[in-house]
Amino acid sequence: MELTQWARPNILQLKPYSSARDEYSGEAMVFLDANENPWNQPWNRYPDPLQRELKKKVAQLKETDPSLIFLGNGSDEPIDLLIRIFCEPGQHNLVQIEPTYGMYAVAAGVNHIAVTGVPLSGDYQLDARRLLAAVNPATRIIFLCSPNNPTGNALDSAEMVKVILGFPGPVVVDEAYVDFSRKGSLLPRLSEFPNLIVLQTFSKAWGMAGLRLGMAFAAPEIITLMNRIKYPYNLSSLTQRTALELLDTEARKEEWVHTLLTEREGLAAALASVPCVEKVWPSDANFLLVRVSDARKIYGLLTDRGIIVRDRSRILLCDESLRITVGTPGENEILIRALHDISRNEPF
Ligand code: PMP
Repeated sequence: MELTQWARPNILQLKPYSSARDEYSGEAMVFLDANENPWNQPWNRYPDPLQRELKKKVAQLKETDPSLIFLGNGSDEPIDLLIRIFCEPGQHNLVQIEPTYGMYAVAAGVNHIAVTGVPLSGDYQLDARRLLAAVNPATRIIFLCSPNNPTGNALDSAEMVKVILGFPGPVVVDEAYVDFSRKGSLLPRLSEFPNLIVLQTFSKAWGMAGLRLGMAFAAPEIITLMNRIKYPYNLSSLTQRTALELLDTEARKEEWVHTLLTEREGLAAALASVPCVEKVWPSDANFLLVRVSDARKIYGLLTDRGIIVRDRSRILLCDESLRITVGTPGENEILIRALHDISRNEPF
């Protein structure tokens, strides 16, 4: 069965909005087709709705073809679009690992799609058989996240492949943190799996969270469906122009990643020696999940000192856990000093 046959019939039949820039995208002497203001160059003009120039550059960077790329307002945009393409409100469900990134469930909720969460193992690993056992005839999409948020670890790729092969519908693998992982990406294997959709983002390793630029990689038919339902001008000219410039600075990104990986190891070791820290989980991302003696209390005491981490202790399998982003060497040192100080002053 073709993957597009998993899409909702109304999406397959939808006649998309055709913008002025869709109908004419070349150069011209006079543009009088989009009701723009003729002054205030270059911001008076609508951006390219399909971000052709930027996609060309992203394709080079990712060693893939522009026809396999969707660019969105962060990777949060494709998460929502994919759920809307494949899941009928009030009828279908989504299967995800637990714990994982919260936006899959939020986007599902907005679209009235039920979520079945399948707990990871005690060491936060994926068991494909267990996940697939949660699939039922109303399941229309599976979300995996590797490296996973908030646990930080990459999922075993052989188990992910079992899920991709075991479920004929769309399987999304969210690789927002892949640049920090030595365990590799599934993107080079996209052509092997017609039902695989890989998400990546420029928000993390590339340091562009404020620009809002995320990527989805999938078979061209799926990219076409995403383009069909997105807002016509989902990426502003400012984002497209700035990203085009910043993508030329790959060496700087590599340097940041290198530094953050060194810092991650140093921070993990330093955290392990703090008395109120009980466990530092291995990480393939730019953050560490850390179990402490009293997460809520320590979160509050850090906040009092102007240090903000994320209290994840209310999440399944994350009892008493804080999620700590790796910062600059100076920031990491401030955190460690504060935690030692807290451990000294508080009876844990
Ligand atoms: N996926 C995961 C796993 C994330 O942690 C995040 C951000 N926290 C996102 C996607 C969304 O990132 P963005 O929308 O900035 O691309």
